[in-house]
Amino acid sequence: MTAQPGTVHLVGAGPGDPGLITVRGQRILESADVVVYDRLVAPELLESAKPGAKRLSAGKAPGGRGPSQAQINAQIIEHARAGRSVCRLKGGDPFVFGRGAEEIAAVQAAGVPWDVVPGVTSAVAAPAAARIPLTHRDWASTATLVTGHEGEAKDGAPVDWAAVAGAGGTIVILMGIATLPTTCERLIAAGRPSSEPVAVIERATWPDERITMGTLADIADTAERVGARNPAVVVVGPVVRALRGDAA
Ligand code: SAH
Repeated sequence: MTAQPGTVHLVGAGPGDPGLITVRGQRILESADVVVYDRLVAPELLESAKPGAKRLSAGKAPGGRGPSQAQINAQIIEHARAGRSVCRLKGGDPFVFGRGAEEIAAVQAAGVPWDVVPGVTSAVAAPAAARIPLTHRDWASTATLVTGHEGEAKDGAPVDWAAVAGAGGTIVILMGIATLPTTCERLIAAGRPSSEPVAVIERATWPDERITMGTLADIADTAERVGARNPAVVVVGPVVRALRGDAA
């Protein structure tokens, strides 16, 4: 007799601080038979999995070793088909640059039931941690969320930085450290002032969070000098200085 498949819950773990998972996400984490977690998930969160729950790392360091996406998908589907409930815990929000949709497409194609619990994305949490409002009545009425890692872009197509610059307002870049020098050049070439403030927020909400400030003209050099690394969110726009009393 085949068991009824378990449900796969795609859960956002939040940006880092274990206090920033949602209440619903925490409950699912506590009751799941299997927890499959990413590298950017706080170890403390995993301690709240129920006794006997299987914990599987799906961690992929950039360019490093770890299970392939196909292997992760296969494991998730296998557990669910054996009747186990699976908490697929992903950093931030599972549907923001996290390949959550790709995993769920495989689960869905396998006929396994699934749902999603939104998470606090680093795209919003990192600016907040740095006391930067994403939008502001005086300074920004739009916020554009973009990847600095072109491989993550739609169809592998390059990001249209001129369009991003032209949208005005705030620009929030994920995975943007390696490409920061070219990104700044492109934004300036597309008309953003070289004096525009930029913040680089590394490991937002983790104990070793670090914020580096600069402008489009100098942040790439400064970031390199201080050794800024991913995970980091780059925020560009006048809002960066909005609460510092000297918004540009
Ligand atoms: N789904 C995640 C993003 C996954 S892509 C989310 O919603 O947050 C991974 C990128 O997210 C990192 O390269 C970095 O740009 C960003 N990121 C994730 N956690 C972060 C944190 N605590 N501080 C700064 N950036 C973070």
